Amino acid sequence: MPETVSFLVDPLPVGTSAEFLESSFREIEPGSPALAVNDLAPHRGDGVFETLAIVDGRVNDLEPHLARLANSARLTDLPEPNLDQWRLVIRRAAERAPADGQFSVKIVVSRGVDPGTVPTGWAHVASVPDFSRERSHGIRVVTLDRGIDRGAGERAPWLLLGAKTLSYAPNMAAIREAKRRGVDDAVFVSSDGFVLEGPTSNVLVRLGDVVVTPPPAAGILHGTTQRRVFAFLESLGRRVAYRDLTLDELRGADAAWLVSSVRMAAPVIEVDGHPLGADAAMTAEINDHLLGAND
Ligand code: PLP
Repeated sequence: MPETVSFLVDPLPVGTSAEFLESSFREIEPGSPALAVNDLAPHRGDGVFETLAIVDGRVNDLEPHLARLANSARLTDLPEPNLDQWRLVIRRAAERAPADGQFSVKIVVSRGVDPGTVPTGWAHVASVPDFSRERSHGIRVVTLDRGIDRGAGERAPWLLLGAKTLSYAPNMAAIREAKRRGVDDAVFVSSDGFVLEGPTSNVLVRLGDVVVTPPPAAGILHGTTQRRVFAFLESLGRRVAYRDLTLDELRGADAAWLVSSVRMAAPVIEVDGHPLGADAAMTAEINDHLLGAND
């Protein structure tokens, strides 16, 4: 595979006849000029996306990612995406990835060229860093104030906190701030002291025999990985719960993880300079499951 594989996609309306799906996207030379400078994606970060893991040629959690793409489009008043089209684009993109190893495929729906009457789309397969060290040795995090309280997501839906939009500059700034402070990643905390999410991950915390994550209504992205981990733990008869988590509960947790589609479950070994107990057995169990076949 070249370093990346890219496709340009003409997003189709829902209900378009299946015969038009295959001709609605085409592979382009990686790095070739493909986006108009007045497309509202580069211009205003106005669009939605998904990043899916490809493990040994298989796409992880395809349907949950497609469902979230549709939800993000709804929250941002974009036309309803044709999921048959995106399913095919993702399958074709994954076929271009090598049969062994870990890759990602990112799909993007932009509002389109200014003024944004016709959406544009693209897909992009890329190799991913080797996260095996983070998965086994863990990561150190700092908590960072998100500057909004726990109710902001519901009170101010225009902040689009539950949508996976292209406007990730604050999230990237938070990761840079974490690195400046000498650690690996960040955890956002609401201004009233509740744990929210990482800039590109969800937070799972084990308190005794229950694994807890903050509810999506707290103004966070409902993660596909978190949902898959919960379903897996429940299938083993373990207890899981969505509930508000305080900063003190995170700092005093029996174990904690940042979970996301590509890095999977990274155990948190330090929060704000305080060491956290690691649960190596549960970490291995979760990552073995996440890295296994599931499409
Ligand atoms: N929260 C945010 C802000 C994210 O950007 C991500 C993933 O990129 C997640 C949570 C985790 O979502 P998923 O597990 O679907 O990758």
